[in-house]
Amino acid sequence: MTHLIDGKKWALLSREETKQACAILTQEGRQPGLTVVLVGEDPASQTYVRGKEKAATEAGMQSAIIRLEATITQDELLAVIYRLNQDPHVHGILVQLPLPKHIDDQVIIDAIAIEKDVDGFHATNVGALALGLTGFVPCTPLGIMRMLAYENISLSGKHAVVIGRSNIVGKPMAQLLLKANATVTICHSKTENLGQITRQADILISAVGKAHLVKADMVKEGAVVIDVGMNRLDGKLVGDVDFENVKEVASAITPVPGGVGPMTIAMLLHNTVQAASNVTS
Ligand code: NAD
Repeated sequence: MTHLIDGKKWALLSREETKQACAILTQEGRQPGLTVVLVGEDPASQTYVRGKEKAATEAGMQSAIIRLEATITQDELLAVIYRLNQDPHVHGILVQLPLPKHIDDQVIIDAIAIEKDVDGFHATNVGALALGLTGFVPCTPLGIMRMLAYENISLSGKHAVVIGRSNIVGKPMAQLLLKANATVTICHSKTENLGQITRQADILISAVGKAHLVKADMVKEGAVVIDVGMNRLDGKLVGDVDFENVKEVASAITPVPGGVGPMTIAMLLHNTVQAASNVTS
């Protein structure tokens, strides 16, 4: 029987720890503050941003959303970031992606002060992860690592296959697995014979955004399967993994919803508390 990895349960545990750390910092007069910057009216982004703000408030943080018109220029957006960088009450700055096409995402992200980059997307934090140095780690892969640790799933010497090579999930995921001594393979849209590679995985992580991409015959008996994907199928939220059939093969699997998603938010809160506690007056 497959084991269902309950992301909601682990996220609650992590959020409770964060709440306690937040309360201590607040008592010391250093209440953690998270500001989310939202440009434009994309409905999915609006939902994500509201969820993040609510979670931060529930953790006891000072939380704010800055909503900006989609027509804002890159320079105007940079000015908003510079102002937040200077604000001592703001410990974490998150710019909701994607940004409108006329704005260069990476220019904006790299304008965020490194010590406030709680998404871990700043080039310096990306470099720190690659070098094994301390820095902020992107929330989704960090949440997956935390969940695997909670579940006592060992990674050392295991073959981990990551499908997807994005900067926000696939690449940092691979870095973290490597750091945990897994043997790592990264697959992507140009990979040939995907199933042949995924069938070798002890740990299979899919971060693509295609419903039912990962079928049961692509999974080794007893593998651990982590589904990052979020897709709409017949009006329902589903992952990349054909859950009903893959669960018959996997030893453990994350559901969608209720798997990776809740842990991502939990790690955003964790990183923000970390940012606040890093501040020395
Ligand atoms: P992305 O579009 O930036 O990257 C997708 C990756 O999938 C690319 O690297 C591409 O090469 C690869 N790919 C595309 N088609 C493929 C195929 N047929 N075979 C193998 N690889 C293929 O997406 P992203 O931002 O990394 O997000 C991936 C998915 O994870 C999306 O569904 C997104 O909504 C979801 N997501 C979920 C969370 C969460 O908290 N649950 C967080 C971030 C992203």
